[in-house]
Amino acid sequence: MKRMLFVLTFVAFTLSLASAQRLPDVARPENYKLTFTPDLEKATFEGDETITIQVLKPTSEIILNAVDIDFHDVSVTAGGATQKAKVTPEKEKEMVVLAVEKPLSAGPATLHITYTGILNSEMRGLYLGKDDQGRKYAATQFEATDARRAYPSFDEPDYKATFDISAVADKGMVALSNYKAVSDTPGPGEKHTVKFATTAKMSSYLAALVVGNFEYIEGSADGIPIRIYSTPGKKEMGRFVLGAAEQIVSYYDKYFGIKYPYGKLDLIGLPDFSAGAMENTGLITFREVILLIDQQHGSPGLKKTIASVTSHEIAHMWFGDLVTMKWWDDVWLNEGFATWAASKPLLGWKPEWNFDLDDVSQNSGTLNTDSLANTRPIHQAAETPGQIMELFDGIAYGKAAAVLNMLEAYLGPETFRAGVREYVRQHFYGNATADDFWTTLARVSKRPVDQIMPTWVKQEGVPIVNVKAQCSGNSTKVTLSQRRYYYDRAKFEAANDQLWQIPVCLKGSAMSSGKCELLTKKEETFTLPGCSAWVLANAGAGGYYRAGYDPDAVRALAKDAEAKLSPANT
Ligand SMILES: [Zn+2]
Repeated sequence: MKRMLFVLTFVAFTLSLASAQRLPDVARPENYKLTFTPDLEKATFEGDETITIQVLKPTSEIILNAVDIDFHDVSVTAGGATQKAKVTPEKEKEMVVLAVEKPLSAGPATLHITYTGILNSEMRGLYLGKDDQGRKYAATQFEATDARRAYPSFDEPDYKATFDISAVADKGMVALSNYKAVSDTPGPGEKHTVKFATTAKMSSYLAALVVGNFEYIEGSADGIPIRIYSTPGKKEMGRFVLGAAEQIVSYYDKYFGIKYPYGKLDLIGLPDFSAGAMENTGLITFREVILLIDQQHGSPGLKKTIASVTSHEIAHMWFGDLVTMKWWDDVWLNEGFATWAASKPLLGWKPEWNFDLDDVSQNSGTLNTDSLANTRPIHQAAETPGQIMELFDGIAYGKAAAVLNMLEAYLGPETFRAGVREYVRQHFYGNATADDFWTTLARVSKRPVDQIMPTWVKQEGVPIVNVKAQCSGNSTKVTLSQRRYYYDRAKFEAANDQLWQIPVCLKGSAMSSGKCELLTKKEETFTLPGCSAWVLANAGAGGYYRAGYDPDAVRALAKDAEAKLSPANT
């Protein structure tokens, strides 16, 4: 997901484990059969749902997530017998208890639920939107915890299941979901019923549906049809993003070494949409203004934003959708990765747009936030929907991306990519933790990634690395020391024992290329080849830390800045 307002401020993060809202691990879903019948005039929808589950241990209760759902008939079938279930909502937990008289034994069972939901005006769950001509549509926005407003579900990311989605749409309206339509038949009444192909296993928050008046233009990448949908009359404004999306899909196909796996990709611009964009599997929803643009007269700045958001969302198709975090406390890895990846496919496509320099300037904004006393660690526990939504902030996007960038610079792009590929290959259609990610990277790179990453992810703040260089004969001794950086002078000078493992890429004036070292102590001395007048600590600007130099070193650096430093460093 890309949030629209990138607010880099933090509120104190309070966590009360007493209000834990996790489902008990009593049953797991395997498949959802879902038919949605939206009534755009009445702002409601009818749902017909069959969930195939595996009961893990004998129980007389199945607990699902549900919010604002009016249950009609609920039955459970197991061992050839069907029984009615008693429905007890637990509103504050956003759950519902389905109780049966005869306990279910471990093994397969089927839940059948009919219900009515609300097409709300809050732009979450399955909601009602309106275009500038007053035409109504229904669309979904589920991340993080709003799938439960559209269908009773095991609404936690590691309960992955396959989906068979159908939509009953008004005459003339388009219905879109994660996968291609396999049939479109007239009825009931004046309506028509669109049935979509069975999906691969995916998390509840990645299911999606849009029903309304839309038109499209189509292209393709590596045999995958790509469509850009807009409200009527605007489809030509999708030309720019269609070109971008084609480039991006084919770039990631190669980067991940796994071809885009969902059969088709639709991008749709919605007039009413709460986030910037959302990576629903195979159907990415966007706020209309950051998808559609006049190819000739649109501003380059907005085109860059559109291309970059599109690239972020398409990166999620692999990193986030194909492999998903086990729980929301690791959502930073999804968002950090997609943010880190976004500029990569665009560098070769539009080199004149200097996306790499944008990353560097974004980095300095994140460094500023992270130098405040009330910043938070990247990894943060979260249990309730409110706590989970607070995790989608500048730290999860910007800092996590910057730390991944530093790791890539340290390991080298090829090795980093080999680790990413291995991680995706291992957890394909499943879930993983951040620990799984850096354990894999450590194994593939044979570098201590599993030692480095916790120091960046589990503690808050950012270090400053002080550099003292001394030429002696044919080499240069560089003493590096680290401490946490604060804008607050008193805090900065106070004792602080925080320690990071910092990959520092050093480049001296006498060196033709940089050399990366790992600073693991408060102070450490490294030897560089050649007699250098100055040594730069963040060669290539890939690091996430500040660097401090003696006044003499700054003067020597300034003299050579134009001739010897890259634009990213200046
Ligand atoms: Zn995202």
